[in-house]
Amino acid sequence: MKKVALIGSTGSIGKQTLSVVRRNSDKFQIVSLAGGNNVGDFLEQVKEFKPKVATLASPLSDTSQIPSQTEFFSGEDAFVNAIIDEADIVVVALVGFKGIISVLDAINKGKDIALANKESLVVGGGLVMQKAKEKGINITPIDSEHSAVWQALNFDFNAPFNKIILTASGGAFRDRTKEEMPFLTAKDALLHPNWKMGAKITIDCATLVNKAFEVIEAKWLYNTTFDKIDVIIHRESIIHSMVELNDKAVIAQMSYPDMELPIALALSYPERVESNIKSLDFGALQKLTFEKVDHDRFPCFKLVLDSAQSGCLYPAVANGANEQAVQMFLQGKIAYTDIYKGIYGALMGFEGSHHMHFEDLVEADAFARRYVKEFFGV
Ligand code: MG
Repeated sequence: MKKVALIGSTGSIGKQTLSVVRRNSDKFQIVSLAGGNNVGDFLEQVKEFKPKVATLASPLSDTSQIPSQTEFFSGEDAFVNAIIDEADIVVVALVGFKGIISVLDAINKGKDIALANKESLVVGGGLVMQKAKEKGINITPIDSEHSAVWQALNFDFNAPFNKIILTASGGAFRDRTKEEMPFLTAKDALLHPNWKMGAKITIDCATLVNKAFEVIEAKWLYNTTFDKIDVIIHRESIIHSMVELNDKAVIAQMSYPDMELPIALALSYPERVESNIKSLDFGALQKLTFEKVDHDRFPCFKLVLDSAQSGCLYPAVANGANEQAVQMFLQGKIAYTDIYKGIYGALMGFEGSHHMHFEDLVEADAFARRYVKEFFGV
């Protein structure tokens, strides 16, 4: 029985993780849950899984529904209490910068990590991977692209390869013209063509910021360089990513898009457990298509990648600015095309420090958020 601490239980990945655990209750047990702001769902989860520890970001005045055997904490920072000694593995499914707090905490406590929070590697990949190596921590990817690469490499993070080829659906705006883009709303963006996901990542898909983040994530997970990572638009989201090996053989991992597959694998590898995904019907699919990234329509992709090439704290600035801008776009305060302007402005306005401690990341993140708020005057 693998004991799981789930950080971010009320988000999209959190709920799908619980569905994997529910279906494989002979293999996995939830020992702690950290929920966000969805109180109703959180209480249901706690009642069902009866964890030893449960934490909720929202304040909760009436705790009568928390089972007596569950130790309960609430407040914005309560999630730090959820990585408990009993856990064998920590699923980090928080959205955004704060995920790095749980990642570093899990590493310090010697826990393996199933990682859905890509921002932690975007902002502090060097720090995270170095500490994980020192402590002998396994970080298994939940992100579907990185899971595909991992599978193609036979679960060997050090296997040699020529090239990683990350696939991208292209996001909700893949067929929109440049002229339409300033007028597109959050509602338009939230209609993702292939994947059911949380709001923040769905917007990141619509700007291709998510794909730039995933290139950075792949660089750290597979200890490689940016020139060995390609991105190709693949509308059908059937190939989740590919690896070209040294002899030019290309290994692809395919399935209908469903996050439960990579979640289950991150928890159970090298064993595979049953999933409820349908078998691929190639006759019905008929064809798989591939296109190059259109940098003219999706300038955020290169902007974020350039920030990562600059290194140091620039990716943390890009991430912080993006988080702030996406939040404002979701609230209808700025336009879709303003997300680029916010990230660009923050990167230009940042006076780079070369330090890379956790506190420096926090500072760079705060700078970027402040910059974007002031830039748009909201
Ligand atoms: Mg992904």
